[in-house]
Amino acid sequence: MSTAVGPRSSTDVGVPVTSVEARAYRVPTDRPEGDGTLTWDATTLVLVQVRAADRLGTGWTYAPAATAGLVDELLAPVVSGIDALAPATAQRAMLRAVRNAGRPGLVSMAISAVDVALWDLCARLHDVPLAQLWGAADDGVEVYGSGGFTTYDDETLRAQLEGWTDLGLSRVKIKIGESWGTEVSRDLTRTDLARRTVGDEVDLFVDANGAYSPGRACRMGARLGALGVTWFEEPVTSDDLPGLRRVREAVAADVTAGEYGYDVPYFEQMAAAGAVDCLQVDVTRCGGYTAWLAVSALADAHHLDLSGHCAPYLSLPAAVATPRLRHVEWFHDHVRIGQLLFEGCADPVGGVLRGSGGPGHGLTLRTDAAARFRVG
Ligand SMILES: [Mg+2]
Repeated sequence: MSTAVGPRSSTDVGVPVTSVEARAYRVPTDRPEGDGTLTWDATTLVLVQVRAADRLGTGWTYAPAATAGLVDELLAPVVSGIDALAPATAQRAMLRAVRNAGRPGLVSMAISAVDVALWDLCARLHDVPLAQLWGAADDGVEVYGSGGFTTYDDETLRAQLEGWTDLGLSRVKIKIGESWGTEVSRDLTRTDLARRTVGDEVDLFVDANGAYSPGRACRMGARLGALGVTWFEEPVTSDDLPGLRRVREAVAADVTAGEYGYDVPYFEQMAAAGAVDCLQVDVTRCGGYTAWLAVSALADAHHLDLSGHCAPYLSLPAAVATPRLRHVEWFHDHVRIGQLLFEGCADPVGGVLRGSGGPGHGLTLRTDAAARFRVG
C-alpha cells in the first residue's frame, strides 16, 4: 500500500496527524490482586489512537480513566496537525503544553500513551516494525514471570509459578511485604514455597513495593538471600534513595526500582545516588518510547542495566533497541489484558518474547472484545 511518505520541502508538515482519540477500559482481574502496599480488583487501561494519511497508531497506559480527559484537553490540541513522521517533535510540544499542569503522575501517563501511539503511527507510515525504525535487530527479549500476589493462596501461587516455568521462563517474581511489611513470617513462607516450586535452577525475584523500613529490609535481605533470592525490588519506598542505597550495600541480592519514574531526571537522580543495581523503566509512565530511549542512554552512561516494568507487549520494541537490557516483566495482569484486548499478543517461546514482524508495535485493538469494558 502506498503512503504519503517521501521527500518533503522544509515548509510543509509532512503527514499531518488528523485525529487524536482517547478512551478508557476497566478490566476486572481474574481474582483479587494485592502487593505489600495496595490491593485491587480491576485495572483501567487508557487507550490513545492517532491517525494520519490512511494509517492508525495505537498507544495506551494503565491509569485512572480521568487520564483520557487530560489527553483530550491538553495534548490533542498540540498534537493535531503536527507531522506524524516526527514523534520527538510532538513530545516536545506536549511537554510545553503541560507546564502548568505538572509532569509526574497522570500527565506523564497521558503523554506516554500519546507518544507510543505516535511512534506506532510513524513506523506504520514507513511500513516497518518499530525496532527496525530504531536500527535494532528484532531478535526478541527475555522475560521474567511476575505476579505472585499476596492475595493468592498457596495453590494459586504454585499453579502460577508452574505456568511460567512451563512457558520456559527462567526467572520468576512474587510480591512480599504483605500488610506494609508487618507479615514477615508469611513473606518468608511464601518465598520458600516459590523456591521449592520452581527449583534451584530458576532465578527467584521478590518485590516489596516499598513496604519495609530500611532496617527491616536489611534483616529480610539476609533471610531472602538464604533462599537464593537475587532481585529485591523496592525493599523500601523508592522516594527514599539513601534508604535504597543502605539496603543495596547490606544485601546480596540486586536492589532495583524505577517504576514511578515519570521523567528522565528521575532516573538520573536514582542512578547518581547509587540507589539501585538495575533501573526499571515503565513505557506507559516515563513518557513513552521517546523517554525510554533517553533513559536507556542514561543507564548506559551509569553502567546500569535496564529492565522493562510491566506492559510487556508495549515495552518489547524499545527493549530490543536497549543496549543494556536485562529483561522485560511478564506481568500477569497486563499479559491477560493484552491478550484480551489486542491482536498480536503472543506468549514467549523458550522464555523469549518476540514481535509479530508487522509494522509499528504490531498490536491491534480488538474493538468488539474491548467494547464491554469501556468506561469512558
Ligand atoms: Mg514493582
